[in-house]
Amino acid sequence: MNVTRREFGRLTALGVAAQFAPALNAQSGKKIGYAVIGLGRIADHFMRGALLTGNSAITGLVSGHRDKADKIAAQYNVPQGSIYSYENFDEIAKNPAIDAVYVALPNSMHAEYTIRAAKAGKHVLCEKPMALNVAECESMIAACKVANVKLMIAYRCHYEPIQLKAIDLIRTGKLGKVQVIESAYGFNEDAGEWRLDKKLAGGGPLYDVGIYCLNACRYLTGEEPTDFSAYASVVDHDGRFDTVEENLVWTMKFPSGAVASCSTTYGAPMDGYFRVHGSKGLLECTSAFGYENVRLRGFYSGTRIDESETTPDPYQFQAEADHFSNCILMNKEPQSPGEEGLRDLTYITRIYRSAGIPI
Ligand code: NDP
Repeated sequence: MNVTRREFGRLTALGVAAQFAPALNAQSGKKIGYAVIGLGRIADHFMRGALLTGNSAITGLVSGHRDKADKIAAQYNVPQGSIYSYENFDEIAKNPAIDAVYVALPNSMHAEYTIRAAKAGKHVLCEKPMALNVAECESMIAACKVANVKLMIAYRCHYEPIQLKAIDLIRTGKLGKVQVIESAYGFNEDAGEWRLDKKLAGGGPLYDVGIYCLNACRYLTGEEPTDFSAYASVVDHDGRFDTVEENLVWTMKFPSGAVASCSTTYGAPMDGYFRVHGSKGLLECTSAFGYENVRLRGFYSGTRIDESETTPDPYQFQAEADHFSNCILMNKEPQSPGEEGLRDLTYITRIYRSAGIPI
């Protein structure tokens, strides 16, 4: 999707245009070297995305499985001496090829590895949800401040062109006053996954995928929710949901009076979407939180819109890596800093409280 000069100006004003400024990152041609911590599914997308940028490289790996790390090291030309285990991880401090880490571990490990990376003097790109709770988020932010390193939460949708288009249309008033938002995201989770273990995940689908709906309602409106009401349930009593919820629905109210209704599940395939009803139109985004095929349809102020992103995965990870590396190179604050992850954890806590789930 092309962004015109006028659109770029508006996005800049909204603080969401940095990813469209690749020319800015050139500087001395220096690439930010990332050590990837936890070589699972999302790490694979990130590493492929980073490779497509002009400012990022994979220069270290951290894994509990040396055989897997060796194979990936060969793919990305990572030297054997830059492969670490969780035990000797702190030695990255001595590796000048590693500027930053990408934390792609189960949620319960985000705080520990962010803080250890900061103490090693490395910038941190941490996956969502930022951590298990507000206290952990606060200690991560504090550790990065003390170490004078940058902290970004990997909210890839903040760097996705179709989402940016929706933000622009809404925040510049094309849709009129936002009245109601609906959003959902979920999937059928397999037994045995760490996501079903509260100790590792923090909670159920709200932590994992419902967080996309929560975050979207916030970035679409530019408002922070003030009131919450929620219900959680378990339909499948098959052992998967002994420690986390299966379904969760919640409503939120924003200062303008706009209200949002969101759903998430680990018990059914649920394509991620949001629908924004404004006084002058409607925007519906489908595959909204997927890795590709994001589509925005609707109408506003007499105009019809139907735009799809055709760039294949891993374009969102490319944009995310490009943005963070640029921030490091240019000494700028990321568009999705630790404070953004902290806000979501604050709201997740309130949603769980409303649903009667201890956190
Ligand atoms: P995976 O289970 O695929 O990978 C996690 C990796 O962490 C494992 O491969 C393993 O790597 C390492 N690990 C260390 N300790 C454990 C443990 N006790 N149990 C399981 N794995 C462990 O998870 P995902 O990649 O799907 O998720 C990782 C993080 O990324 C989560 O926080 C998740 O919320 C987030 N995520 C973000 C997405 C996005 O689009 N932004 C999408 C999907 C996930 P090794 O074997 O190398 O030690």
